Amino acid sequence: MIRYALNCQDGHAFESWFANSTAYDKQAKRGLVTCPICGSAKVEKAIMAPRLSRNEDIAVPALPMPPIPQPPSPAAAKAPVAIMSPPERELRKKLKELREHVTKNADYVGPRFPEQARKIHYGETEHRSIYGEASPDEAKALHEEGIEFHPLPILPDEFN
Ligand SMILES: [Zn+2]
Repeated sequence: MIRYALNCQDGHAFESWFANSTAYDKQAKRGLVTCPICGSAKVEKAIMAPRLSRNEDIAVPALPMPPIPQPPSPAAAKAPVAIMSPPERELRKKLKELREHVTKNADYVGPRFPEQARKIHYGETEHRSIYGEASPDEAKALHEEGIEFHPLPILPDEFN
């Protein structure tokens, strides 16, 4: 016995059992294979492989692809830029002041920031203001340890 997936001329899909493939061919030729939905004898074997028809394209619209994060390339490094209206300029001025205040009053520890932040947090060294660099992973780890820190506002160079 062999099972065929069949389509009639109206596109109804159904399945039918045959003794073998020759039996199907014979019965189909004699009009004995009929669609159970509309009774049409014009049936053909359905293509079993996934089929792309226009209807299916409409029924299953392609999902929008999430943006692929671009790895930073030093050669084509682009800085974020913005056009700012007066309220943003005012805010930016404050951010700049904050940044200047921090950089003036805090110790720069560079890439040792995570290590120094932990020492301060766990009381291994005196509490003081520091600033430096942390990778996203390091920042996440610090955050998970309950260490409070803030990203320094980054300002476009051309405005400094
Ligand atoms: Zn039919």
